[in-house]
Amino acid sequence: MTQPWLDGLLQRLYPPTCFLCGAPGHAGLDLCPGCRADLPHNRHACPRCAIPVPEDQGTGAPCGPCQRHPPPFAASHAAFRYEDPLPALVAGMKFRARFNLTRLLGQCLTLALLEQGAERPELILPVPLHRRRLRERGYNQALEVAREVSAALAIPIDGATCIRALHTSAQVGLDDRERRRNVRGAFAVLRPPAAHHVAILDDVVTTGSTVTELTRTLRAAGVERVDVWAVARTP
Ligand SMILES: [Zn+2]
Ligand SMILES: [Zn+2]
Repeated sequence: MTQPWLDGLLQRLYPPTCFLCGAPGHAGLDLCPGCRADLPHNRHACPRCAIPVPEDQGTGAPCGPCQRHPPPFAASHAAFRYEDPLPALVAGMKFRARFNLTRLLGQCLTLALLEQGAERPELILPVPLHRRRLRERGYNQALEVAREVSAALAIPIDGATCIRALHTSAQVGLDDRERRRNVRGAFAVLRPPAAHHVAILDDVVTTGSTVTELTRTLRAAGVERVDVWAVARTP
Protein backbone atom coordinates (compact mmCIF):
# COMPACT_ATOMS: atom_id res chain seq x y z
CA MET A 1 0.00 0.00 0.00
CA THR A 2 1.36 3.45 -0.82
CA GLN A 3 1.56 6.36 1.60
CA PRO A 4 -1.03 9.16 1.36
CA TRP A 5 1.68 11.78 0.63
CA LEU A 6 3.04 9.57 -2.15
CA ASP A 7 -0.45 9.12 -3.57
CA GLY A 8 -0.84 12.90 -3.60
CA LEU A 9 2.45 13.35 -5.42
CA LEU A 10 1.66 10.62 -7.95
CA GLN A 11 -1.76 12.17 -8.59
CA ARG A 12 -0.08 15.46 -9.50
CA LEU A 13 2.63 13.85 -11.63
CA TYR A 14 0.35 11.34 -13.32
CA PRO A 15 -3.19 12.64 -13.00
CA PRO A 16 -5.76 9.90 -13.67
CA THR A 17 -6.48 9.69 -17.39
CA CYS A 18 -9.29 7.71 -18.97
CA PHE A 19 -7.98 4.49 -20.45
CA LEU A 20 -10.65 4.43 -23.12
CA CYS A 21 -10.89 8.03 -24.36
CA GLY A 22 -7.98 9.97 -22.86
CA ALA A 23 -10.20 12.44 -20.96
CA PRO A 24 -9.31 13.27 -17.33
CA GLY A 25 -10.07 10.41 -14.96
CA HIS A 26 -12.34 10.71 -11.98
CA ALA A 27 -12.07 9.76 -8.28
CA GLY A 28 -8.54 8.42 -8.74
CA LEU A 29 -9.63 5.97 -11.45
CA ASP A 30 -8.13 5.87 -14.95
CA LEU A 31 -11.65 6.19 -16.33
CA CYS A 32 -13.80 9.23 -17.05
CA PRO A 33 -17.35 9.21 -15.64
CA GLY A 34 -18.85 8.77 -19.14
CA CYS A 35 -16.76 5.74 -20.10
CA ARG A 36 -17.24 4.25 -16.63
CA ALA A 37 -21.02 4.54 -16.97
CA ASP A 38 -20.86 2.87 -20.41
CA LEU A 39 -18.99 -0.24 -19.19
CA PRO A 40 -21.07 -3.45 -18.96
CA HIS A 41 -21.42 -3.52 -15.15
CA ASN A 42 -22.72 -6.87 -13.92
CA ARG A 43 -25.35 -5.40 -11.63
CA HIS A 44 -28.13 -7.90 -12.31
CA ALA A 45 -26.77 -11.36 -11.76
CA CYS A 46 -27.30 -14.69 -10.00
CA PRO A 47 -25.96 -14.29 -6.44
CA ARG A 48 -24.54 -17.79 -6.52
CA CYS A 49 -22.69 -17.94 -9.88
CA ALA A 50 -22.77 -14.27 -11.03
CA ILE A 51 -24.23 -15.16 -14.42
CA PRO A 52 -25.91 -12.03 -15.81
CA VAL A 53 -29.71 -12.07 -15.71
CA PRO A 54 -32.09 -9.67 -17.49
CA GLU A 55 -32.75 -6.56 -15.44
CA ASP A 56 -36.46 -7.32 -14.99
CA GLN A 57 -35.70 -10.85 -13.74
CA GLY A 58 -33.18 -9.79 -11.11
CA THR A 59 -35.12 -11.05 -8.08
CA GLY A 60 -32.01 -11.87 -6.04
CA ALA A 61 -32.82 -15.60 -6.21
CA PRO A 62 -30.28 -18.05 -7.67
CA CYS A 63 -30.59 -18.82 -11.39
CA GLY A 64 -32.26 -22.04 -12.59
CA PRO A 65 -29.06 -24.08 -13.03
CA CYS A 66 -27.85 -23.05 -9.52
CA GLN A 67 -31.20 -24.09 -8.03
CA ARG A 68 -31.10 -27.46 -9.78
CA HIS A 69 -27.40 -28.17 -9.15
CA PRO A 70 -26.07 -25.84 -6.43
CA PRO A 71 -22.37 -25.13 -7.06
CA PRO A 72 -19.87 -25.75 -4.25
CA PHE A 73 -19.15 -22.02 -3.81
CA ALA A 74 -21.50 -19.92 -1.68
CA ALA A 75 -21.56 -16.65 -3.65
CA SER A 76 -20.03 -15.07 -6.74
CA HIS A 77 -19.35 -11.46 -7.65
CA ALA A 78 -18.13 -10.18 -11.00
CA ALA A 79 -17.55 -6.51 -11.77
CA PHE A 80 -18.47 -6.74 -15.45
CA ARG A 81 -20.14 -8.85 -18.08
CA TYR A 82 -17.48 -10.13 -20.48
CA GLU A 83 -18.63 -7.90 -23.34
CA ASP A 84 -16.91 -5.07 -25.21
CA PRO A 85 -14.57 -3.51 -24.22
CA LEU A 86 -13.72 -6.14 -21.56
CA PRO A 87 -12.10 -8.74 -23.90
CA ALA A 88 -9.57 -6.14 -25.08
CA LEU A 89 -8.94 -4.83 -21.55
CA VAL A 90 -8.47 -8.32 -20.11
CA ALA A 91 -6.18 -9.35 -22.99
CA GLY A 92 -4.03 -6.27 -22.39
CA MET A 93 -3.69 -7.16 -18.74
CA LYS A 94 -3.16 -10.88 -19.32
CA PHE A 95 -0.84 -11.10 -22.30
CA ARG A 96 0.80 -7.69 -22.64
CA ALA A 97 1.69 -7.01 -19.00
CA ARG A 98 -0.13 -3.68 -18.92
CA PHE A 99 -0.09 -3.27 -15.18
CA ASN A 100 -1.88 0.09 -15.21
CA LEU A 101 -4.78 -1.84 -16.73
CA THR A 102 -4.48 -4.45 -13.97
CA ARG A 103 -4.69 -1.65 -11.41
CA LEU A 104 -7.77 -0.20 -13.07
CA LEU A 105 -9.58 -3.55 -13.27
CA GLY A 106 -8.62 -4.29 -9.66
CA GLN A 107 -10.07 -0.94 -8.60
CA CYS A 108 -13.26 -1.62 -10.57
CA LEU A 109 -13.60 -5.04 -8.93
CA THR A 110 -13.12 -3.49 -5.48
CA LEU A 111 -15.86 -0.92 -6.18
CA ALA A 112 -18.18 -3.65 -7.48
CA LEU A 113 -17.61 -5.81 -4.38
CA LEU A 114 -18.53 -2.86 -2.15
CA GLU A 115 -21.53 -1.95 -4.31
CA GLN A 116 -22.78 -5.55 -4.40
CA GLY A 117 -22.33 -5.95 -0.64
CA ALA A 118 -19.93 -8.89 -0.93
CA GLU A 119 -19.27 -10.64 2.36
CA ARG A 120 -15.76 -10.25 3.70
CA PRO A 121 -13.60 -13.37 3.47
CA GLU A 122 -10.58 -13.94 5.70
CA LEU A 123 -8.28 -14.51 2.72
CA ILE A 124 -8.17 -13.84 -1.01
CA LEU A 125 -6.81 -16.75 -3.00
CA PRO A 126 -5.90 -15.93 -6.61
CA VAL A 127 -6.45 -18.86 -9.01
CA PRO A 128 -2.94 -20.29 -9.35
CA LEU A 129 -1.17 -20.76 -12.68
CA HIS A 130 0.90 -23.83 -13.38
CA ARG A 131 4.58 -23.00 -12.92
CA ARG A 132 5.25 -23.64 -16.60
CA ARG A 133 2.66 -21.07 -17.64
CA LEU A 134 3.90 -18.70 -14.96
CA ARG A 135 7.39 -18.98 -16.42
CA GLU A 136 6.13 -18.29 -19.94
CA ARG A 137 4.05 -15.28 -18.91
CA GLY A 138 6.19 -14.00 -16.10
CA TYR A 139 3.29 -13.10 -13.81
CA ASN A 140 -0.11 -14.39 -12.72
CA GLN A 141 -2.73 -11.83 -13.74
CA ALA A 142 -5.16 -13.09 -11.07
CA LEU A 143 -2.53 -12.44 -8.39
CA GLU A 144 -1.89 -8.94 -9.79
CA VAL A 145 -5.60 -8.08 -9.61
CA ALA A 146 -5.77 -9.65 -6.13
CA ARG A 147 -2.98 -7.32 -4.93
CA GLU A 148 -5.15 -4.29 -5.79
CA VAL A 149 -8.25 -5.68 -4.11
CA SER A 150 -6.26 -6.87 -1.09
CA ALA A 151 -4.67 -3.45 -0.56
CA ALA A 152 -7.97 -1.60 -0.96
CA LEU A 153 -10.02 -3.87 1.30
CA ALA A 154 -7.23 -4.83 3.73
CA ILE A 155 -7.79 -8.57 3.25
CA PRO A 156 -4.61 -10.68 3.05
CA ILE A 157 -3.72 -12.74 -0.01
CA ASP A 158 -2.95 -16.42 0.24
CA GLY A 159 -0.79 -17.29 -2.72
CA ALA A 160 1.06 -20.22 -1.22
CA THR A 161 -1.28 -22.90 0.07
CA CYS A 162 -2.69 -23.99 -3.25
CA ILE A 163 -0.89 -24.81 -6.50
CA ARG A 164 -1.87 -25.82 -9.98
CA ALA A 165 -0.46 -29.30 -10.13
CA LEU A 166 -1.49 -30.15 -13.69
CA HIS A 167 -0.49 -28.23 -16.79
CA THR A 168 -3.94 -28.20 -18.41
CA SER A 169 -4.45 -27.12 -21.99
CA ALA A 170 -6.14 -23.76 -22.56
CA GLN A 171 -9.90 -23.82 -21.98
CA VAL A 172 -10.64 -21.71 -25.07
CA GLY A 173 -12.72 -23.59 -27.64
CA LEU A 174 -13.78 -26.37 -25.24
CA ASP A 175 -17.40 -26.98 -24.33
CA ASP A 176 -18.65 -27.17 -20.76
CA ARG A 177 -18.09 -30.91 -20.34
CA GLU A 178 -14.62 -30.83 -21.90
CA ARG A 179 -13.67 -27.93 -19.65
CA ARG A 180 -14.72 -29.84 -16.55
CA ARG A 181 -12.71 -32.87 -17.63
CA ASN A 182 -9.75 -30.64 -18.53
CA VAL A 183 -9.44 -29.16 -15.01
CA ARG A 184 -10.27 -32.27 -12.96
CA GLY A 185 -7.55 -32.76 -10.35
CA ALA A 186 -5.76 -29.63 -11.58
CA PHE A 187 -5.23 -28.11 -8.12
CA ALA A 188 -3.48 -29.34 -5.01
CA VAL A 189 -3.48 -27.90 -1.50
CA LEU A 190 0.01 -27.94 0.03
CA ARG A 191 -1.24 -27.13 3.52
CA PRO A 192 -4.80 -26.29 4.59
CA PRO A 193 -5.49 -22.52 4.39
CA ALA A 194 -5.71 -20.86 7.82
CA ALA A 195 -9.27 -19.65 7.21
CA HIS A 196 -12.88 -20.77 7.27
CA HIS A 197 -13.96 -18.38 4.52
CA VAL A 198 -11.88 -17.55 1.44
CA ALA A 199 -12.62 -15.79 -1.83
CA ILE A 200 -10.96 -17.19 -4.91
CA LEU A 201 -10.17 -14.55 -7.50
CA ASP A 202 -9.98 -15.04 -11.25
CA ASP A 203 -9.85 -12.63 -14.17
CA VAL A 204 -12.71 -14.08 -16.22
CA VAL A 205 -15.21 -16.77 -15.24
CA THR A 206 -16.63 -18.54 -18.29
CA THR A 207 -18.38 -21.83 -17.56
CA GLY A 208 -17.20 -21.87 -13.96
CA SER A 209 -15.39 -25.19 -14.35
CA THR A 210 -12.05 -23.85 -13.04
CA VAL A 211 -13.51 -22.12 -9.98
CA THR A 212 -15.75 -25.13 -9.28
CA GLU A 213 -12.74 -27.46 -9.29
CA LEU A 214 -10.68 -25.12 -7.11
CA THR A 215 -13.59 -24.71 -4.68
CA ARG A 216 -13.98 -28.48 -4.39
CA THR A 217 -10.28 -28.85 -3.69
CA LEU A 218 -10.37 -26.16 -0.98
CA ARG A 219 -13.51 -27.54 0.65
CA ALA A 220 -11.99 -31.02 0.70
CA ALA A 221 -9.03 -29.41 2.54
CA GLY A 222 -11.40 -28.12 5.23
CA VAL A 223 -12.36 -24.59 4.08
CA GLU A 224 -16.02 -24.11 5.06
CA ARG A 225 -16.99 -21.34 2.71
CA VAL A 226 -15.59 -20.36 -0.67
CA ASP A 227 -16.78 -17.34 -2.70
CA VAL A 228 -15.78 -16.44 -6.24
CA TRP A 229 -14.64 -12.96 -7.23
CA ALA A 230 -13.94 -12.12 -10.87
CA VAL A 231 -13.30 -9.10 -13.04
CA ALA A 232 -15.74 -10.37 -15.66
CA ARG A 233 -18.35 -13.09 -16.19
CA THR A 234 -19.41 -14.37 -19.58
CA PRO A 235 -23.16 -14.02 -20.17
ZN1 LIG B 1 -13.36 8.12 -21.11
ZN1 LIG C 1 -26.44 -19.12 -10.88
